Amino acid sequence: MFECTLAGSLPKPFWLAETNKLWPQWKASGRELEIAKRDATLFWLKAQEDAGLDIVTDGEQSRQHFVHGFLEFVDGIDTEHKVKMGIRNNRYDAMVPKVIAPLKMKGRAHQAEARIARAHTRKKLKFTLPGPMTIVDTIADDYYGDRVKMAMAFAELLNQEARALEADGVDVIQFDEPAFNAFTEEAATWGIDALHRAIEGLKCTTAVHICYGYGIKANLDWKRTLGEEWRQYEAFFPALAGSRIQQVSLECHHSHVPPDLMALLKGKDVLVGVIDVASDIVETPEEVAATIGTALKFVPKEKLYPCTNCGLAPMDREIALQKLEALGKGAALARKKYA
Ligand code: ZN
Repeated sequence: MFECTLAGSLPKPFWLAETNKLWPQWKASGRELEIAKRDATLFWLKAQEDAGLDIVTDGEQSRQHFVHGFLEFVDGIDTEHKVKMGIRNNRYDAMVPKVIAPLKMKGRAHQAEARIARAHTRKKLKFTLPGPMTIVDTIADDYYGDRVKMAMAFAELLNQEARALEADGVDVIQFDEPAFNAFTEEAATWGIDALHRAIEGLKCTTAVHICYGYGIKANLDWKRTLGEEWRQYEAFFPALAGSRIQQVSLECHHSHVPPDLMALLKGKDVLVGVIDVASDIVETPEEVAATIGTALKFVPKEKLYPCTNCGLAPMDREIALQKLEALGKGAALARKKYA
């Protein structure tokens, strides 16, 4: 009961990359970089196990950015001539690469880190990939001329990588779709269709993570415009409940999302965010257990997985470690309290 996990990313150690950044520069190159990535992955696996987490990740230590870390391995993209584009429904501008030819994989994207993680933990292993809608919202299009068509093309590539990750021994494959909260109606239709294409043929557990983003300024400013109650989830949770995706990772603690919206995910495993990633204040185990208690009003015990609201990538490493510990201890406390 209450197997706990994290959304996916963790801070990169200072010897691997710049710290406290969403898009850090690597500190090494070539063989040294490969070794540093491996060492960082091992460090975070151990830290997650020590904290008592049940489903662990590679902490995304081998990629610079959660979307572009995958796009690096895709052919048909011009990364030399980046263009300025409003993303997440124009919430902020970003310099993005553009699609200029049919998309195809250059080879495997995440084989090395998945195999290293698998070889060094007996815990269940989750692996994250960017969702098709979020990719489409983070890249310019000079070829497909249609967002849905391009999303389906990316979904096919994600599916190839996901099948290979499953063969590497990954237990859970999660697609990160923060764009769902920016395009709520499209999320319910082609957003979910594209996810279905991405999970085709998988036998492992499948998940989608939908959040209000990291605690960066553009997101904090946007959240201030959303009012007292954040009801974005309401638009597409019923469609997700009817989908073939098995798990949904969502925000809860310190979020303005009304907790009763979790009831719309009937039949799904719900990964409840009990750790705030936009604040450096570390939750107490009692607070974590209390958030689990709130979620229990809307999610059955056996379907509830305590989790973080989002990734911990841009956070201070010591705070991230303490937050993992609070998550593990809070879940343990909740097991006693609500058994
Ligand atoms: Zn997130």
